[in-house]
Amino acid sequence: SEERILMDETAIRRALTRIAHEIVEKNKGIEGCLLVGIRTRGIYLAERIAERIQEIEGMPIEVCELDITSYRDDRQSGKNAGAEGESAASDCNAPLLQVQDKRVILFDDVLYTGRTIRAAMDAVMDCGRPQTIQLAVLVDRGHRELPIRPDYVGKNVPTSKQEEIEVSLIEIDNEDKVTILH
Ligand code: 5GP
Ligand code: MG
Repeated sequence: SEERILMDETAIRRALTRIAHEIVEKNKGIEGCLLVGIRTRGIYLAERIAERIQEIEGMPIEVCELDITSYRDDRQSGKNAGAEGESAASDCNAPLLQVQDKRVILFDDVLYTGRTIRAAMDAVMDCGRPQTIQLAVLVDRGHRELPIRPDYVGKNVPTSKQEEIEVSLIEIDNEDKVTILH
């Protein structure tokens, strides 16, 4: 299989800086905003954006993590299928999120079918009633199966279903790079 670079360190840095400015502009400041990073790489993206927003606005912004593994509708094993409602509140960290009346901004590395984001929205709304939920992703690779679209996008990358995006972030992968494997 072949690998092609879509974003290098500079491109990632510029995209995140742009998204930080877009968030501040769309929300007319950052009052009441809560950045929620999904699982591994979304958390690092949320933290980087928070640093930039703090530089732009001169005030700190809240960041939380969300692990939605137990909410995914297509990750139920045969024996658990149908027990979706139960898994939600019981074995997830979501109830710790203070989302009431907040402007929640979800972060993930790659947006694909939209099922992870649907699950993340379920987890957030189990914790309270946010004022709004917005979505930021580093890469939108298409192939949505649900009516979900991102508010902030690092790069739109049309893909085939066979291709795979590889996101490397310095915090865990020792470099900043986005590649496509095909
Ligand atoms: P979805 O739930 O939208 O189908 O897939 C999005 C989730 O799966 C994200 O959490 C993302 O990390 C992961 N994902 C889906 N496709 C890709 C891909 O091509 N590359 C990477 N790195 N992650 C992907
Ligand atoms: Mg992921």
